Amino acid sequence: MNQNQISDIIQLQRTKYRENSFIEYDTRMELLTKVQNCITKYEKDILNALSLDLGKPSYEAQLSEIIFVQNEVRSIKKNLKKWMKKRKVKTPLIHFPAKSYIRSEAYGSVLIIAPWNYPFQLLFSPLIGAIAAGNRVVLKPSEISENTSHLIKKIIDEVFEEEYIACVEGGVEETTELLDGHFDYIFYTGNAHVGRIVMEKASKNLTPVTLELGGKSPTFVFGNSDLELVAKRIVSGKFFNAGQTCIAPDYVLVDENKYEELVNKLIKYIEKFYGEVPSKSKDYGRIINESHFNRLLSLIETDSLLCGGNTSSEKKFIPPTLVSAKEGDLCMKDEIFGPILPIMKMENLKSAIDYVTAGEKPLAMYIFSNDSKVQEAILNRVSAGGVTVNDTLMHITNEHLPFGGVGHSGMGSYHGENSFDLFSHKKSVFKASTVMDVPVKYPPYFGKIGLVRWLMRFFG
Ligand code: NAD
Repeated sequence: MNQNQISDIIQLQRTKYRENSFIEYDTRMELLTKVQNCITKYEKDILNALSLDLGKPSYEAQLSEIIFVQNEVRSIKKNLKKWMKKRKVKTPLIHFPAKSYIRSEAYGSVLIIAPWNYPFQLLFSPLIGAIAAGNRVVLKPSEISENTSHLIKKIIDEVFEEEYIACVEGGVEETTELLDGHFDYIFYTGNAHVGRIVMEKASKNLTPVTLELGGKSPTFVFGNSDLELVAKRIVSGKFFNAGQTCIAPDYVLVDENKYEELVNKLIKYIEKFYGEVPSKSKDYGRIINESHFNRLLSLIETDSLLCGGNTSSEKKFIPPTLVSAKEGDLCMKDEIFGPILPIMKMENLKSAIDYVTAGEKPLAMYIFSNDSKVQEAILNRVSAGGVTVNDTLMHITNEHLPFGGVGHSGMGSYHGENSFDLFSHKKSVFKASTVMDVPVKYPPYFGKIGLVRWLMRFFG
């Protein structure tokens, strides 16, 4: 798509928004139904595209991309009427009989930029929130997951009118073109480097942004816990989508007394889940491209390898890999975003907490402990986007929990009602009475302030 076509889409949505800034409930529901229908119609093609892009096992793709989005649309449709209602709030007695309420209004035209790791879900999940809130939307899928991107473009062009939902494919050039246009809200998911570019560009028009970023998500294993269950749950969360999950456990901090047992059990579950030759497993994905493959290989130091190693650049395959790590190791610097799990022995809980808080605030955090004092100590001291206690990834599966980062891992959160709220401006409305008119608010003011103070104290 060239520069003119992109600016035409932006212009079209802006003009339509000016002409009709309120999209009725029925139209929103119609658009959401179209989303549901197109997922059903194209489910096989979506799964196929995800398999071509990421070697995504069908089960993982259905769970995390199809069912996830379908559930969200269903729940949003069920609740939309209620969420769209104006919300009455109290009005101080001094204004009697005035009334006050909050109207959720659409921002206008929203730009949604998605990354490649869950290329369908991360575009469609914010899309349905934005539609529910009455916005028009321009979608920008990741060019890196190219098969999914082409398919999404085809679906959107076929199903929706551009004045409501449009899709622009492309890479840096096209995204820059979009970011140079004028949107009313920008929702970006991806790495922090581009997050800064998005925020800088948005600042030109004072456009509000949500940044769904990543980071190093720690996993604590301390106190009393069943290491069998711990290992099983860490392995399943870490190696889902071959570790290319923003909230995957990035590394494990474990009480030094439990290190050996935990490592043995992690290896046991890797074998149990993916077999002795994981390259033959149908339940294990591939690395998205060569550059990420090479980046990941550079993180594996062979002398610290505990499990894994047989990689294939031709097949972009890296097996589930465990490495023993220490502070300062390369794999402990940046987000791993692949199937490598560093495990670091810690002397005690305090040193583990100190280690995490010395870094940036993570997107997710996992606490394995049956000891509520341990859980509370970590929850009190470590700030994180979201937390699962005694499992991994699970907090994202509850639509009633807001999903998002904090600090370096992002700003703003969505899913379920939080998506509706995120994509709505909360407009305050005060309806004054025309029946009563309190004279103290008008000039001349002389001698009135005492009365105002008295009224405010008793009726304010
Ligand atoms: P990516 O390379 O696909 O980039 C994301 C989007 O930014 C793409 O649409 C791309 O076209 C655009 N982009 C890239 N460079 C750009 C530039 N210079 N200017 C403007 N636009 C540009 O994906 P990625 O960034 O590699 O994604 C992985 C990161 O995303 C990881 O850090 C991961 O943790 C994070 N992530 C976060 C979440 C979340 O929900 N918080 C979800 C998934 C991924």
